[in-house]
Amino acid sequence: MDSLKDEMRGAIVHMAWSGAPVSDWNAVAQTYYDGGLNTAVIETYPSHLILGHFTELDTAIAAFHARGLRAHILNTVNLQPLNDNMRMRAANGSLIDKTCPVRAASKATFQTIFTNLATNYALDGFQYDYIRWPGESGGGECYCDECHAKFIADTGLSNTVWPVDAQLNGRYHWQFIQWRIAQITLEVESIRGWMIAQKPSLEFGVAVFTGWSNQYSYPAMDVGQDPADWVIRGLVEHINPMCYKSDMSGGVESFQDYFLSSRDIMAGGTASRKGAVPFIPWIMIGGTESAPTPAVLAQQVEYIRNNGGNGFLIWRYGGPGQTSHLDIRPFLQAIASQTSKDLFQVLEISNISVRSVVSGIEVSWQTSSSVPSVIEYSANPLFKLRARTNEYGRNFTYYDCDYVNSSLVTDATPKTSHAITLSAGQGPYFRVVASDIFGTSFSKVYATVTQHRLTISSNPSGLPFILRRM
Ligand SMILES: [Zn+2]
Repeated sequence: MDSLKDEMRGAIVHMAWSGAPVSDWNAVAQTYYDGGLNTAVIETYPSHLILGHFTELDTAIAAFHARGLRAHILNTVNLQPLNDNMRMRAANGSLIDKTCPVRAASKATFQTIFTNLATNYALDGFQYDYIRWPGESGGGECYCDECHAKFIADTGLSNTVWPVDAQLNGRYHWQFIQWRIAQITLEVESIRGWMIAQKPSLEFGVAVFTGWSNQYSYPAMDVGQDPADWVIRGLVEHINPMCYKSDMSGGVESFQDYFLSSRDIMAGGTASRKGAVPFIPWIMIGGTESAPTPAVLAQQVEYIRNNGGNGFLIWRYGGPGQTSHLDIRPFLQAIASQTSKDLFQVLEISNISVRSVVSGIEVSWQTSSSVPSVIEYSANPLFKLRARTNEYGRNFTYYDCDYVNSSLVTDATPKTSHAITLSAGQGPYFRVVASDIFGTSFSKVYATVTQHRLTISSNPSGLPFILRRM
């Protein structure tokens, strides 16, 4: 996505076709609209997409589009394999009921269903879910023949005694953990590639495990997710840690701890400076953990807004049209009435373009409301990866997204059509920043030296954003 909005306000429609079927998509979409949400995240499983065209998904997307909302499709990628050829295999040879992304059958299936999803449905974005290995306690390591062969091919460790050397306390265990992370990154990259080839405007987000104080390396080791690496590689347009906590004490493993640890590691942001991509956590209103009350959820949204977030995604919808889950409406009302952002407005940057002028490079863009013109520039790409190795005795490497430095060029006169010229010493890296009293939007980081590679577009979906007061 070329223009990054402040803010994304979404909720997941969970189990829409199984367990808690939706009876009326128009009633669901209208409740989103009335509650001030601008994004629907509609859950699918691989099984929904393998048997011909899933017309129910068209119905769902159309209901949200009719009200000006964006429709993102979530898929629980590795959660439910479709057959034994996709399943993981335990060290003792038995099958595990989770998908091994290394297996040829898994890749072929995913290429088919995700290419088809991008080609034949009107989605605006894709949300990876369960894009990971199961955790350690859930038999999270796969020792299938295909993993065996690829581990040796990738690492060159041809003397590996399989699976013993790869297992906990084996001589190549940490090389195996490292390799396992790379397989999930490859899966994220592959699915994006298949889908982007069909629909370049798609926005990708990813539900990821949070870090927390002194345990930053745990999710990478446990489930193989390395989100900062995906952010800097450009594989996701926004990042979505699952900050599922009602505890607002600020202590270890509180909501604030989950939020801040993840924000700093995955996106490199601060309260005053946005990170490398929009940081849009999942927050929870009902489930197996003790869930926040409406008032606490409103506090969490306020905390996100004041600490460098760019929106929120609520797990999960209940209410008109899907009555099996907790009613979301009191929560949306609490957010609308108890936080500073009572105006449910989206500030959008669009039509960024670059041209050479006598004094340098002129960057022009538009904003959806009248705001000052701001460009953040640097001689470096603003953010970079920092390797973190061998933390807590875990002998592998994962990445931390760090801000490097930047400077600002500002024209304080509020306007909607902007143009600023960067002189020879300003750049080559830059991004556009737009702020009003409700928040800050920002573009991707571009480089003027490679302007022939810039992809410049308006709001890619063509959907209008809703500007209205609750
Ligand atoms: Zn495997």
